[in-house]
Amino acid sequence: MIPEPASPTLMATYAPAPVRFVSGRGTELFDDEGRRYLDFLAGIAVVSLGHSNKRVADAIAQQAARLMHVSNLFHNELNERLACDLDRLVGDGSAAGGQVFFSNSGAEANECAIKLARRVGGPGRYVVISALGSFHGRTLATLAATGQPKKHEAFRPLPAGFSSVAYGDVGALENAVASPSVTAVLLEAIEGEAGVVVPPEGYLKAVRRVCDERGILLMLDEIQTGLGRTGRWFAFQHEAIHPDVVTVAKSLGNGMPIGACWARRDVAAAFVAGDHGSTFGGQPLACAAGIATLAELEAIDAPGRAKRTGAYLAQRLEALGGVASVRGKGLLLAAVLEPGLDASEVTRSALRLGLVLNAPAPGVLRLAPPLTVSTAEVDEAVGILGVALGSVSSVETSEGGQR
Ligand SMILES: *Cc1c(COP(=O)(O)O)cnc(C)c1O
Repeated sequence: MIPEPASPTLMATYAPAPVRFVSGRGTELFDDEGRRYLDFLAGIAVVSLGHSNKRVADAIAQQAARLMHVSNLFHNELNERLACDLDRLVGDGSAAGGQVFFSNSGAEANECAIKLARRVGGPGRYVVISALGSFHGRTLATLAATGQPKKHEAFRPLPAGFSSVAYGDVGALENAVASPSVTAVLLEAIEGEAGVVVPPEGYLKAVRRVCDERGILLMLDEIQTGLGRTGRWFAFQHEAIHPDVVTVAKSLGNGMPIGACWARRDVAAAFVAGDHGSTFGGQPLACAAGIATLAELEAIDAPGRAKRTGAYLAQRLEALGGVASVRGKGLLLAAVLEPGLDASEVTRSALRLGLVLNAPAPGVLRLAPPLTVSTAEVDEAVGILGVALGSVSSVETSEGGQR
């Protein structure tokens, strides 16, 4: 561990923890002093196949030596293949028949969705309704869509045409979409950054009905929940609904920066050449990583693993002293701490003990390990967490003492 001075060269947008990771393998990370950590954050639900996955690393190395980038002014053989693979997962194993725009990040995938919604809406029909507590990105438009007014303050005026309603409240949504200026609803299937907040069962189904009644788009931000993490390829599949637009990013390249906006074909058709673009989006290098990542996620039955290991992790967490409740789906879980326990302090203590996780909300720990995590690693991590919880309070813990 090194004391971290404010960086003289990096903008102070983050306050990084005092550790420098230099390598990783599977669920393990190693710092510059050779110390080993278990990574139960996975780069914020990015590294679903674990660190340094061989299939993805080989695909990147081979593509880097062959052709990295040509621009979207030409066809390349990889973006169409990746779009096809992604479309099959949106369709839960059989083609959904949609079309894809590739970006370099989650925020950009949502930007594409928002522009598409405006294009579909036409003049005077441009408002996107999102949910309070949501997170959709840091660009100005995605910040405006993000339902966290505190994050807006310093950056007003934000782009117009966004409004947020209580998450999980169908009535509030119904009222909000009554205006003829509304073109779409943009929601997370589970609010990840808010602290892994799961909406009431049937919410997405009800939202689908509301959107159908009003003839507006249902756009789901599955950037954190997508690609197997919650125990299905996409979290909306738990409710067997069909969204009009789906955005993904985080785990799509297992660490390679890549995002995508999928849309039903007739919705996507609103875009014509020149409406949207990206220099890097869809380039061969990022798409090679995406193809290898999806192939490996399918080969290991990532949703099945997330479901099984997630159930085991949830059960182990529930038995921990200091944990009031556990929520989430698959391997996107939150441990809600007993009142009085400081989640940030717990994450700092856990880090010192060799466990990486984070505190997305006060009193809430998020656990989003690689989907490849073993039950032995779960046992080890829960043991460490038990010690960390014990160290920040007088809470009696039955776990721990393994390190
Ligand atoms: C991380 C995240 C984003 C933003 O992705 P970036 O790649 O950081 O731009 C958007 N929506 C959700 C739900 C996310 O979890």
